Amino acid sequence: MSPPDDGARSTIDHRRVIAIDGPAAAGKSTVAHMLADRLGAMLFDTGALYRAVALAALRSQVAPDDHQSLARLARDARIVIQPPSQRDGRLYDVRLNEEDVTWPLRDPEVGAIVSKIAAHPPVRSALLPLQRRIASDGPVVMVGRDIGTVVVPDAGLKVYLDATPEERARRRHQEATRRGGIESYEDVLRETQIRDIGDSSRDTAPLRAAPDAIRINTDDMTIDNVVAEIESLARARVDATGAPLWPS
Ligand code: C5P
Repeated sequence: MSPPDDGARSTIDHRRVIAIDGPAAAGKSTVAHMLADRLGAMLFDTGALYRAVALAALRSQVAPDDHQSLARLARDARIVIQPPSQRDGRLYDVRLNEEDVTWPLRDPEVGAIVSKIAAHPPVRSALLPLQRRIASDGPVVMVGRDIGTVVVPDAGLKVYLDATPEERARRRHQEATRRGGIESYEDVLRETQIRDIGDSSRDTAPLRAAPDAIRINTDDMTIDNVVAEIESLARARVDATGAPLWPS
């Protein structure tokens, strides 16, 4: 594995960064949102960055294999992720060049190409400085595929959330149907499996648990249980003087 590197890691204190990685639809964003709320941390869902580049590519008709144009799009796009401005089920707002694209990012057309786009090293490199900048501003709960392995390998707590493809597809299908989506469960399952393969088999920053990540299988757990488990792991972390990093 050859992670893209801008040399920005180093002496910055990342003990109050919680990295949550895992495959598509493992519940990462929902869990991270609740966790960030309880800990008084920011939520940063890095998948939104890759989705924003995918949406920009669709709109400007850039092919998913044109890595130079995609990297340019990733570098030039003004992507802002901020607290939700509306109470319509969103966990955060995403703005792409000032436009609210929070829901368009969830369109199946975006889901169908995002993994291909995220596999290009120049695209990943272009999105790395923003992710590292936000990690340095901590405290933050960061969600993605390579947060614990590449973006913030010295994060204070690393969690790898997993669930079977069937359970993940069931949850995503339920969520999409609630929002008026018409995709079948079978289509969602197929898309989830294709993304799993793309995300875990790419050469650069593949989906993988960091060696020191705590793995949680969420198949038989409620969201509340998962959040409570990660919260107690976070509350138990202390700094060099023994003071809690996340005091209650
Ligand atoms: O998490 P979400 O499903 O929104 O991510 C969309 C896609 O973005 C993933 O399938 C993956 O290809 C890519 N991604 C990534 N690295 C991250 C976050 C997302 O490659 N840190």
